[in-house]
Amino acid sequence: MASSLPAQTKVVIVGGGIAGASVAYHLTKFGWKDVILLEQNQLAGGTTWHAAGLVGRLRASNSLTMINKYSAELYAGLEKETGHPVGWKQVGSLIAAKSNDRMIQLRRTAAMSELLGVEVQIVGPEVVREKWPLLRTDDIVGGAWLPHDGKVLPKETALALAKGAQRNGATIVENCRTLEIEYANGKATGVLTNRGRVQAEFVVLTGGMWTRELGLSCGVTIPLYPVEHHYVVTEPLAGAFDELPVGRDPDLCLYFRGEGNAVMLGAFQNSSKPWMVEKIPDGFSYQLLEPDWEKFAEPLANGKHRIPALQTTKFAKFVNGPESFTPDNNFLMGETPELRNLFVLAGFNSVGIASSGGAGKYLAEWIIAGEQTVDLWSVDIRRFAPWANNRSFLRERVAEILGLHYQMAWPNREFETGRGLRKSPLHERLAGQGACFGAKNGWERPNWFARDGIERTVKYSFGRQNWFACHAAEHRAARENVAIFDQTGFSKYLLTGRDAVAVMQRLCGNNVDVPIGRAVYTGMFNARGGFESDLTVIRVATDQYYIITGTSQTARDFNWITRNIRASEQARLVDVTNAYSVIGVMGPNARSLLGSVTDADLSNAAFPFLTAKMIEVGQATVRAVRVTYVGELGWELHAPIEQTLALYETLMSAGKEFGITNAGHYAINSLRLEKGYRAWGAELSPDDSPLEAGLGFAVDWSKPFLGRDALLKQKREPLKRQLVIFVLENPEPMLWGSEPIHRHERPVGYTTSGSYGHTVGAAVAMGYVKNPAGVTAEFIKSGRFEINIGGKLFPARAYLRSPYDPERKRILM
Ligand SMILES: Cc1cc2nc3c(=O)[nH]c(=O)nc-3n(C[C@H](O)[C@H](O)[C@H](O)COP(=O)(O)OP(=O)(O)OC[C@H]3O[C@@H](n4cnc5c(N)ncnc54)[C@H](O)[C@@H]3O)c2cc1C
Repeated sequence: MASSLPAQTKVVIVGGGIAGASVAYHLTKFGWKDVILLEQNQLAGGTTWHAAGLVGRLRASNSLTMINKYSAELYAGLEKETGHPVGWKQVGSLIAAKSNDRMIQLRRTAAMSELLGVEVQIVGPEVVREKWPLLRTDDIVGGAWLPHDGKVLPKETALALAKGAQRNGATIVENCRTLEIEYANGKATGVLTNRGRVQAEFVVLTGGMWTRELGLSCGVTIPLYPVEHHYVVTEPLAGAFDELPVGRDPDLCLYFRGEGNAVMLGAFQNSSKPWMVEKIPDGFSYQLLEPDWEKFAEPLANGKHRIPALQTTKFAKFVNGPESFTPDNNFLMGETPELRNLFVLAGFNSVGIASSGGAGKYLAEWIIAGEQTVDLWSVDIRRFAPWANNRSFLRERVAEILGLHYQMAWPNREFETGRGLRKSPLHERLAGQGACFGAKNGWERPNWFARDGIERTVKYSFGRQNWFACHAAEHRAARENVAIFDQTGFSKYLLTGRDAVAVMQRLCGNNVDVPIGRAVYTGMFNARGGFESDLTVIRVATDQYYIITGTSQTARDFNWITRNIRASEQARLVDVTNAYSVIGVMGPNARSLLGSVTDADLSNAAFPFLTAKMIEVGQATVRAVRVTYVGELGWELHAPIEQTLALYETLMSAGKEFGITNAGHYAINSLRLEKGYRAWGAELSPDDSPLEAGLGFAVDWSKPFLGRDALLKQKREPLKRQLVIFVLENPEPMLWGSEPIHRHERPVGYTTSGSYGHTVGAAVAMGYVKNPAGVTAEFIKSGRFEINIGGKLFPARAYLRSPYDPERKRILM
């Protein structure tokens, strides 16, 4: 370790746990030698040293699996590379299922695993017992076996990464505490430590559970909070050995593995204990919290049930370690939207050993390239805004998060804690009419409305859920009559200034230099031609745009646009999300209804599709936008937040005559899927191009824009993947997304979202179909497609365009 502190460097990394060591290792490996890693105490002494060392490869998404797979491969070769033993053992891992629902979940996981490149075998109880002879298996219905998973010694792995980084040129300084992040003109410029100042071009925060406080010191939102995580280790136990696989019994919230000739038993309980500290102590290094046998009583009883030998053994060790958790169980990664050149990698939700190898690599690539090199939205720090950084919210939410690792992964599961933080003005009114809410980016959004005596809570399952009939009624109301939607959570911005048009023309694929009052659907792309966002842009003045994007992307899209405004340009973006509500009035009778409460001419000639006007609706004055995300005639009404209730009441009272129906976001989802409308975050990501997504029509090739060169190149070659819409032949099953797509029995992709299409009379989904030799219309047309639902193949019709033709009100065959 270095004893003196360099005054200047290219990259300074704050925090010497496994995450910081991995970032330093990869930056230096990729050739950036001028790197300093600062640790306030000793390397790996924070959370890393006491981790259980489980390295699982399969995660919920493609990118997270890619990250963990890389970690496992890196750790397997690290000892050879650095000479520092890391204890990697490929012992495999075993998941036991106690219930049929859990088996369905495992089968769904196994079905996807082939596409994600991870081997998963579904096994019977006898194989579970064979792999882990100490287990009781009479109440187990089966399990999954992942032969390539393994375990490491976490502290040694972090030290090996640090050693590798040092060999490649990094300077590591222990006992050096960063006190403040320094910045100027919206950019990080270095750190102030207890041993002096370090100027740097880039600052990376890898401070584990301390990172939130480091962020607060410079006005940056890093929502994470420590939670106690417990495991015990037995005295030596007959039949236990170090090479036992990593075992998991998610129904009993347990994990277990061999630890020498003893057994380690850990818990992911449903409700866990946040560490109630005002400030995380600086000197908490190589320390643990007090054992809490009372809290561990239930996992221990469950453990004794699953591993009967534990009933008579003594326990040599109780580990109670604090680990940081985030509001959605995914870690926080990337450049902060508040300060340029300030990067974060923290909040690992108890999978930081398994994730840090890969996360360090992709963060290093991101720093060097100046942008994400692959889609990392699920861990992108820009998915949160200051509302998520409230300490009492965090304390409540993180208590739910730890247990999520093992709870049933229901497709539409909603968080139960930390709810009600962001509400539309209609919230209480809609609740009174049976709204069942879900939360997105903190916004409470009506998902569906309970009717006909159906209970207002979701009964989760992988098939049709209790709201199926309510959803059908809302879906049909929008298709056949008129429905009203509260879409207030949409992100909204105003871009103003002399160069507003130049900025948007450069960022948008479509031509947005349009007459005042015109709305344009367009994508914004990165240099690789992938979607950074898809949005509706309304020209509201010569030098002003009103911009509408998805609910989850508020901070991200704001960041993307502002970071691309050049210093020489005069253009200012204001986030007006919280100033306006959005009420959608959609359906064939939308014009008649709206026409009864406004003097505005709503005829096609006076108010054509993709135009916007300020109109009066009753006593509210709103921006009416003639767009639709459900594929029917309709208007989105953008109203000042304080006039929303008045607007809603006007529409509902006039709507009585038309039989207007409250409808929720589940209906929006099924309606848009039938119509083939894509959603950013599902069908559109930084890795998907408009050509692959079938959105080439929304690109104006005649003008320059960011990403155009890459797209023109792609245009010249056969497309290797294309987005396809699927409708199941069988009207019974449900689709949710993340189901493998098969063409002539071979997996060729997976669904990106799914729902039940009540107009097409079957489940409907979208997904990319891949083929190295090219995916043409003929390839789709000539293919026999099936969707894999929990291991069973269901025939599906494939469409490159909407399966539903609203003009003729019929289903295309
Ligand atoms: C009981 C338990 C079991 C676990 N088991 C597993 C497992 O089996 N598999 C798995 O993948 N994960 C597991 N985890 C999670 C894993 O341990 C963590 O996710 C991981 O160690 C986090 O690493 P980190 O580098 O982010 O944080 P840390 O290891 O805490 O490192 C952060 C470092 O930053 C330093 N620092 C903070 N602030 C400053 C500052 N201002 N100046 C300088 N330095 C600073 C700290 O001193 C600390 O050393 C477990 C966690 C617990 C608690």
